[in-house]
Amino acid sequence: MKSKVYIETFGCQMNVADTERAATGLRKAGYEITASAQAADVVLLNTCSVRERAERKVFRRIGEIRNQAKASGRKQKPVIGVMGCVAQLEGPSIFQNAPSVDLIIGTRATDRIPTLIERVQGGEASVIDLDERQEGEVWDVSPAERRSPYVAFVPIIEGCNKFCSFCIVPYSRGREKSRSALEIVAEVQRLGSLGYKEVHLIGQNVNSYRPKTQQGLEKYSGATPFSRLLRAVGDTGMERIKFTTSFPRDFHPDIVSALEEFPNLCDWIHLPVQSGSDRILKAMRRGHNSEDYLRRVDMVKQSKRRLSLTSDIIVGFPGESEDDFAETMRLVRDCEYDGLFIFKYSKRAGTPAASLEDVIPEGEKTARFIALEELQEAIQKKVYGNYVGRKVSVLVERESARSSEDMTGHSTCHKVVNFRAQQTQPGEVVDVLISQVKSYSLYGELLSERAN
Ligand code: SAM
Repeated sequence: MKSKVYIETFGCQMNVADTERAATGLRKAGYEITASAQAADVVLLNTCSVRERAERKVFRRIGEIRNQAKASGRKQKPVIGVMGCVAQLEGPSIFQNAPSVDLIIGTRATDRIPTLIERVQGGEASVIDLDERQEGEVWDVSPAERRSPYVAFVPIIEGCNKFCSFCIVPYSRGREKSRSALEIVAEVQRLGSLGYKEVHLIGQNVNSYRPKTQQGLEKYSGATPFSRLLRAVGDTGMERIKFTTSFPRDFHPDIVSALEEFPNLCDWIHLPVQSGSDRILKAMRRGHNSEDYLRRVDMVKQSKRRLSLTSDIIVGFPGESEDDFAETMRLVRDCEYDGLFIFKYSKRAGTPAASLEDVIPEGEKTARFIALEELQEAIQKKVYGNYVGRKVSVLVERESARSSEDMTGHSTCHKVVNFRAQQTQPGEVVDVLISQVKSYSLYGELLSERAN
């Protein structure tokens, strides 16, 4: 009988993509993928270490799985494996901290999971693989393993070379490695022929894309390999193309030009600033100051298209004074973001910022978080208010959780849009006339159902 594998995913879109890739490989190797941890012979936790809370969650979850297995009275406990960033960073120490773990799978060992499980099932204790990817590995994801039949994540670059002083990613995911453009374009074409309506080109820093060869980009001009790739992917005819995350220092004006040339490149840019204070940006080693950043924002705002702009901010970085925080508030006011992800600084062992003194007390971090959140809510109300009376294109995802008479989806500008509709189906792209603004979403009336 086939072994059943359950994979639980924490963290970013890269982890979602890794899970899809792992599931594809496992099914090919003869395993069954199950949606139930209780029914599984093998439980894999695909982990995130970007903040301490996410990391702690994993160890809690391992305890829960072990206890549930014990309580169910099953003869054999499931094989428990930890994959992803926590696995890569903590390595063998996980075996000591969580003795029920049998298997540790680093961020570049995804394609070797079937063999690693076999070794555990063959009786080997404490199996671990933190090695590099092997030459010639292809990013192969079967449609059956994708989270959605309409929206697909397409990784274009892995790892990070930026070494921002607060960030663990370069240590957990290694150096930047770009996929070939030929492979990316072929995958987007394949997704189009399978009926996918939207792809997200993903990576820690998509605009740092730098493939080994120009293959697949020959026909497309552009100032950077990423803006050429945007044109090449735009030319596939895929209905909607989004990309995230863009790194400010590498954000070239030609990205905006590509968006103006190809209407299927969506009107949304995620450009994390992290702080509005030049002193803190320097300590964060971001490689941009507020002026550089605002110049790029200006470029986005001056575009012929109305482009939606979102960002990430960390509050309470070591040494962040009241004045530094006031500068962050000022920058947020100036940028008028469409959306903002706010994080309280979390110390990550092994990063340069971990040894900085002048730690901001937790209560102060919370106060700054709330102040920034309130400011953003007010800005967002205004920004969202500008959509009233406008038509947006929505990819329908599901019935709304609030009302069975409403459907929900995302606009091209990546806002949640709910609308009254009995006859639309998930996967359809429809036009919605916005009539109301809610806290984090727009509400409207269905204008038309387009032929899909
Ligand atoms: N590579 C992107 C960049 O830096 O522009 C973002 C990737 S990171 C996975 C997503 C977000 O998590 C970051 O933009 C940052 O705001 C937040 N983050 C990363 N490290 C953090 C830390 N130590 N404490 C709090 N937030 C953190």
